[in-house]
Order: sequence, then C-alpha cells, then structure tokens
Amino acid sequence: MTSYFDEHNCQPLESGEEPNHLLDLARLLLDSGIGAQFQLEFERIFGNVDGRKQPPAAKHIIENLPLINYFNNDEKCSICLKEFQLNLTTELPCHHKYCKICIIEWLKLVNSCPMCRIEFETDDKDYEEYKKQKQRLKQRQVELDDLHNSMFS
Ligand SMILES: [Zn+2]
Ligand SMILES: [Zn+2]
Repeated sequence: MTSYFDEHNCQPLESGEEPNHLLDLARLLLDSGIGAQFQLEFERIFGNVDGRKQPPAAKHIIENLPLINYFNNDEKCSICLKEFQLNLTTELPCHHKYCKICIIEWLKLVNSCPMCRIEFETDDKDYEEYKKQKQRLKQRQVELDDLHNSMFS
C-alpha cells in the first residue's frame, strides 16, 4: 500500500502545512492496525520533532472521554469517515468529535488531536517538563522580540 506521504513526497510537520496528514495517519492506523507501514509513518511524523517523540495522552484523559449524543447528517468522523453514531461519539477538549473507538486508538499513541494538533496532557513527566521549557523559550523569544521592536521602532 502506498501512503499519502509517498504519493506526495512531502515532509510532514513543516510550518503552515495542512493538518490532514495526521488524519491520514490516524486512518492508516485503523485500516491496517499498527503494522509496519503505520509505524514507519508514525516515526516520520512524531520521531523528529526536536528529537522528541510525542507520548500518548494521559490515561485519565483517555479513560474519561465523554460519550455524547451527537448526530449530524453532514458531519462524519474524520478518522473512519463514517457517520457519527448516537452514544458512540466523543468530543475532545478542543471540541473536535470522533467515534470514541477511533480516537482512543489514536490517543494511546500520541497526545494530540489529529485535526487541530492541540496537545493534551501526558503521563510522561520528562515530556511535560520538555513542554514547559519549550513554552518558556517561546515566551522569552516573544519578550525579546518586543524589546527589540520597542528599541528599534
Ligand atoms: Zn470513526
Ligand atoms: Zn481538535
């Protein structure tokens, strides 16, 4: 099976890229189980972010996903592309909706929503620390930029 990535020969996670690669990956996961092909794509996307691999979502998040009574003729689960079924659908904190079984499989592997990429809490202390540092660095960069702008404008 050739994947989306092979066909398009693109590098995932460039800034400003469409987020749909993650959905393709999530679909691949459900289509083929966690096979070699999936692992390969997964490493390509999540193994190279600052040399850090995104861990699974925290257990309590996965275990407490709500089941919601949601049905909308025009809306489908973005992972399996099937219509939502009453009481089998769940909503993430970012308000994106998926079949519960679809998104559980995904969150067991990686802590972000395949549609918007927002990261959820993890049980990985190292990674949480790393996230905090990254946030601090970003904040410092913003402050430096502001300072620079106020001095030179
Ligand atoms: Zn689904
Ligand atoms: Zn989302």
